[in-house]
Amino acid sequence: MQTHSSRSVGSSPLTKKVPFLDLRVSDEGARQRLLGAVDRVLRHGRLILGPEVVEIEKRVASLCDRRYAVGVNSGTDALFLALKSLDVGPGDEVITTSLSWVATANAIALTKATPVFADIGDDLNIHPDSVRRLVTSKTKAVVPVDYTGKVCQMGPLRAIAQEHGIKIVEDAAQAFGATHHGRPAGSFGELASFSMNPMKVFAACGEAGMIVTDDPGLSERLIILRYNGTVNKEVCNEPSLNARLDTIQAAMLLERLSEVEEIIHLRRQIAEQYSKGLAGVVTVPHERAGDRDVYYTYTIQTDARDGLKTYLEEHGIETKIQHPFLMPDQPAFLENVSGEFTNARRIVKRILCLPIHEKLDTEDVDYVIGCVRDFVARL
Ligand SMILES: *Cc1c(COP(=O)(O)O)cnc(C)c1O
Repeated sequence: MQTHSSRSVGSSPLTKKVPFLDLRVSDEGARQRLLGAVDRVLRHGRLILGPEVVEIEKRVASLCDRRYAVGVNSGTDALFLALKSLDVGPGDEVITTSLSWVATANAIALTKATPVFADIGDDLNIHPDSVRRLVTSKTKAVVPVDYTGKVCQMGPLRAIAQEHGIKIVEDAAQAFGATHHGRPAGSFGELASFSMNPMKVFAACGEAGMIVTDDPGLSERLIILRYNGTVNKEVCNEPSLNARLDTIQAAMLLERLSEVEEIIHLRRQIAEQYSKGLAGVVTVPHERAGDRDVYYTYTIQTDARDGLKTYLEEHGIETKIQHPFLMPDQPAFLENVSGEFTNARRIVKRILCLPIHEKLDTEDVDYVIGCVRDFVARL
């Protein structure tokens, strides 16, 4: 309260620093557990595809209600290999959202299929009506991205996919632990891909990713694809990458897995605090009844986005725009870009991600809320 009134007077320049992310492992217990995990791997020496890889695959598959999980070295490779396992290639079209980290479009383009960019809804996720309009006889797959940690409207998407014989590959990179109609992120579609890079809600201490599926054939194909397209490590069936998950990262992921529920709980608490403090001030994220969003980002929308970002920076609050460019507006995709993104073009100028990592305390969040409110009050 004291800080609030002094700030609104504007006499005392507050120096509170609120970083967007802090990847240091500062909890001593957690640090020791991670070091212990690394030490066990160094001692048994199975540094590639060791027992920890098998174990984390089992655990993730089970948490996603899936029969199989294949560990790989990034979310980008996870999505690329998932598409490859479906024989997506030249001449095919793959419909995806306009608003995602560019890795999504890259994974499609690297298969030599053509990415087709669909519009988004106010929830920032791909809009099923737009997908329906973009389906052609060449459409082979749809890649819905569970953006910000919110699962897409999978019912309508599945209806479209079934009607047209299209596969769904869920890019669940941001949504580990989220649920939709009681079902976990990663459980929708023929395949789903995850990233466990250090920024994600369920994070390794380096690059990591995973693909999940119920199809034994796809799982087998993925195991071949993740190691140079080889069977039994020697006979090469088809050219591919080396995309295996490191045992050390798998071991650290196993340790981190026990913390994920607590991390999600804390993020959801922060989101609730933000939403209470900012409803009616800016557009806040909305969670559908019965769903559980995990808030990879807490993304607000306002026409005064750029001014607000500067104002928050001046007050020590680090924010990010995820992402400032739509994927179809990236130089890499500008040529021959196709799709529809009217709503996305409007929304992308309005989005701003507030800090929501689990090291923030109630006062940090109140401080951010206060600053946003002060800025908007002065407009
Ligand atoms: C992080 C991310 C990826 C890529 O994952 P990496 O592990 O960084 O390669 C893909 N799609 C989305 C939506 C992401 O957020």
